Amino acid sequence: MSPAWTLALHGGAGTIPREAMTDSARAAHLEALHAALEAGAAVLRGGGAAEEAVVAAVLVLEDCPLFNAGHGSTLTAAGTVEMDAALMLSDGRAGAVTGVRRLRNPILAARAVLRAGGPVLLAGEGADSFGEAEGLATAPPGYFETPHRRAQLLAARRAGAMALDHDGARMGTVGAVARDRAGRLAAATSTGGMTNKPPGRVGDSPILGAGTWADSTVAVSCTGTGEAFLRVAAAHEVSARMRHAGQPLDVAAGQVIRREVPAAGGRGGLIAVDARGNAALPFGTEGMYRGVARAGAAPWAAIHA
Ligand code: ASP
Repeated sequence: MSPAWTLALHGGAGTIPREAMTDSARAAHLEALHAALEAGAAVLRGGGAAEEAVVAAVLVLEDCPLFNAGHGSTLTAAGTVEMDAALMLSDGRAGAVTGVRRLRNPILAARAVLRAGGPVLLAGEGADSFGEAEGLATAPPGYFETPHRRAQLLAARRAGAMALDHDGARMGTVGAVARDRAGRLAAATSTGGMTNKPPGRVGDSPILGAGTWADSTVAVSCTGTGEAFLRVAAAHEVSARMRHAGQPLDVAAGQVIRREVPAAGGRGGLIAVDARGNAALPFGTEGMYRGVARAGAAPWAAIHA
């Protein structure tokens, strides 16, 4: 029997060395993941919509400085914060923002874009202004940046490359996917992007079909080297494999992460929930901050394999 509701979330994938992670850092991350799971599960338990659940879960992770979204976002090569977020529902409605600098919670801006029902993707100053006009809270640049992010940027500049923020570090992009009691699916993703990215660089997260996707078959949120996820339309590819090739969720999601993304020169992971409430959380990296909550079962969260 399929569960009445399911929620899965991630806090980013990357090289997260088990031995370099202190017990207290591990506990802090697991605690944050459980808090986000509970925020989303509370919505679904009460019969609320998948849309509300994924937004509630992502909000907790955006507000937590341990993860690369909202407060604690990574820095561009110019030392600025440019955040991306997307929200998509199984009825085809969607909203996304890219290059946001002032809005405190980019996922709320994505939801406002979705609800306005006009453009699907707003960029830069236009996205910030739209969010402000919608009454969303803003924050000064110092709110988003943490000392850890400044140190990461300096290290990435020395290495002369863009870096997945959680490589050798403790953090990552965030996302949530859910199926509610009514069978609706939703996917949400929010990120500061990659450390040392050129200003104006747009990753996979706010691009529907690449880093975020939902239809009546499956809801997907990705994390990893965004350029590779963009080139293989990774999130949509999970749905395409299920619909056109008849693959079960775990096979479709696993092949995208273990074959297609690496073939495009990238790596990372994804979370997905299908119409029956099955969840898949494959990753091709050392770890992925992740968790699942579902009706009638204890929620769980994990970092390594
Ligand atoms: N996929 C994100 C990006 O490329 C980064 C991440 O998942 O950490 O912007």
